[in-house]
Amino acid sequence: MDYDLIVIGGGSGGFAAAVCAASHGARCALIEKNKLGGTCVNRGCVPKKVMWNGAALANSLRDASSYGFDITVSGFDWSSLVTARNAYQSRLNKVYRKRLEDMAVDEITGRARFIDRRTIDVDGRRLKAPHIIVATGGSPNILDIPGAESGITSDGFFELRKQPQRVAIVGAGYIAVELASTLHALGSSVSIMMRHEQFLGRFDAMLREMLMEQMLDDGINLMAGTEVVALERNGHGITVRCTDGQELAGFDTVIWAIGRSPNTASLDLGAAGVGVDRQGFILTDDYQNSNVDGIYAVGDVTGRAALTPIAIAAGRRLADRVFGNMPDSRLDYEVIPTVIFSHPPLGAVGLTEQQARELHGDAVKVYQSSFTPMYHAITRSKTVAAMKLVTLGRDEKVIGCHVIGHGADEMLQGFAVAIKMGATKADFDQTVAIHPTSAEELVTLR
Ligand code: FAD
Ligand code: NDP
Repeated sequence: MDYDLIVIGGGSGGFAAAVCAASHGARCALIEKNKLGGTCVNRGCVPKKVMWNGAALANSLRDASSYGFDITVSGFDWSSLVTARNAYQSRLNKVYRKRLEDMAVDEITGRARFIDRRTIDVDGRRLKAPHIIVATGGSPNILDIPGAESGITSDGFFELRKQPQRVAIVGAGYIAVELASTLHALGSSVSIMMRHEQFLGRFDAMLREMLMEQMLDDGINLMAGTEVVALERNGHGITVRCTDGQELAGFDTVIWAIGRSPNTASLDLGAAGVGVDRQGFILTDDYQNSNVDGIYAVGDVTGRAALTPIAIAAGRRLADRVFGNMPDSRLDYEVIPTVIFSHPPLGAVGLTEQQARELHGDAVKVYQSSFTPMYHAITRSKTVAAMKLVTLGRDEKVIGCHVIGHGADEMLQGFAVAIKMGATKADFDQTVAIHPTSAEELVTLR
C-alpha cells in the first residue's frame, strides 16, 4: 500500500481528518482538485463573513450621526473589498498548504475517482490505501428551467467584481437570507423569491418572523409564494417569469440559493460498491463508516448538518478512532448551534418551540422576551432583538435557545456549552448577568 490513509477533498472535513490522522503517525495523502480549504475558505463561510463585516460597517456608518459623528460617506468600492478579501483567502490557502507540509501529509492535486475499494485514480496516477475518506463536499443547485444559466450561484456571487445593483435571489434558506441581507446593507436593491410563505423554515417561528419583519422594514422585497419558471436575458437585464404569469424585469443579477447537492457523481463510487441515497449523499453510520469496510465519509457529502465545524469534528473524531486508538470516538450530531449571518444575525441551538411541543406536549415551558437593544436607544434606525428559551419538564432543562439581534452570533457559543451540559432554567437564573448587554436577557427571563 502507498499510504495508510487517502483523503479525497481538501475542504474543512478532509483537511481536518488528514492532519489529525498524520498527528497519530499515519502516512496520509490528501487529494484536492481545486484550492485547499474547500468551500468554507474559498466560496463559503470566510468570504461570506468578510462581506457581512462590510455590511455591518455600512450599518454602523448609517448610525454614526446619531452618536454625534459628522461623517460624509462618499462611496463604497465593492472591488477593493473583493480584492482585500481575495488576498486574505490566498493567505489562508498558503497556511493550509504549510500545515500539510509540516504534518508530512502528501498534497496531490487533481480529480480523484475510485478504481476499486482500495485504489484511487488521480488523473491517471494510481494510489492505494487500506483506509479512504471521502470528503468531497457539495455544489450549489440551479433550477432546471429555461434560461437558468442567466443566473449565478453563491460561487458566482463571490466572483462578482462589480456590485450588483438590482438583485433577485431565488431560495429561502441560509444562503438566500444571508446574501440578501448583506447585499441590501451594502446598497443593492434586493428581492427574495421564495416558493412558500416564509424563509428559514427550520428555525424557530419567532426568529424567522422577526427577521422577515426587519427585512421588510429595511426595504428588502420579500416575495412569498413565488415560483420561478423561466429567466430571460434581454437588453434590459434579466426578466424573471413566475408560475402565476407574473414577469419581473430589469434585474442585473439573479442568484440561485436553493440548496446544494453532493459531489459524488464523478467519483465512480460504484467501482468500490459505496452506497448513496437518492440524492447521491454517501450513506454513513454513526461512526462515519460507509457500507464498505475501510471507506468512510465526512462533511457535506454525507447530507448531515452542512456546517464547517460539523465536517471538521466528524473528520477529527474519525481519524482519532481509526488511527488514534480511540475506538469509541465519534461525533454526536445532537445539539448543534448555528447562526444566520443576517443583519441583525440570529442563532439557535437545540429544539424549536414547535419541535419541542410536538415531541413533549405540555411538558414544555417557554420563556421569551423582545426588546430594543440599548445601542438603538439613540439611533434613528432600529433593529429587532428577541430571545427564547425552550424548557422541558419539572426541572426545566433548557432544550432550545433562540436569539436574534446584534451580537447573537457571538453570544450563542457559550450558551451552547451550557445547554450541551444539560443546564436548567434555574442554572441560567443563578448566573449573574453582565450589564448592560443584550445577552443578560437570557439569564433574567421571567
Ligand atoms: P468542502 O469544503 O466543500 O470540500 C470539499 C472539497 O473536495 C472541495 O475543495 C472540492 O474541490 C474537493 N473535491 C470534490 N470532488 C473532488 C474530487 N473528485 N477529487 C478531488 N477533490 C475533490 N458553514 C458554517 O459553519 N458557517 C458558515 O458561515 C457557512 N457559510 C457558508 C456560506 C456559503 C455561501 C456556503 C456555500 C456554505 C457555507 N457554510 C457555512 C457551509 C460550509 O462551507 C460547508 O459545510 C463546509 O465547507 C463543508 O466542508 P466539506 O469538507 O464537507 O466540503
Ligand atoms: P438551505 O438548505 O439552507 O435552503 C435551501 C432553500 O432552497 C430552502 O429554503 C428551500 O425552500 C429552497 N428550495 C429548494 N428547492 C427549491 C426549488 N425547487 N424552488 C425554490 N426554492 C427551493 O440551502 P442553501 O443553499 O441556502 O445553503 C446550503 C447549506 O449550506 C445550508 O443548509 C447550510 O447548512 C450551509 N450554510 C451555512 C451557513 C451558516 O452556517 N451561516 C451559511 C450558508 C450556508 P423551502 O423552504 O421553500 O423548501
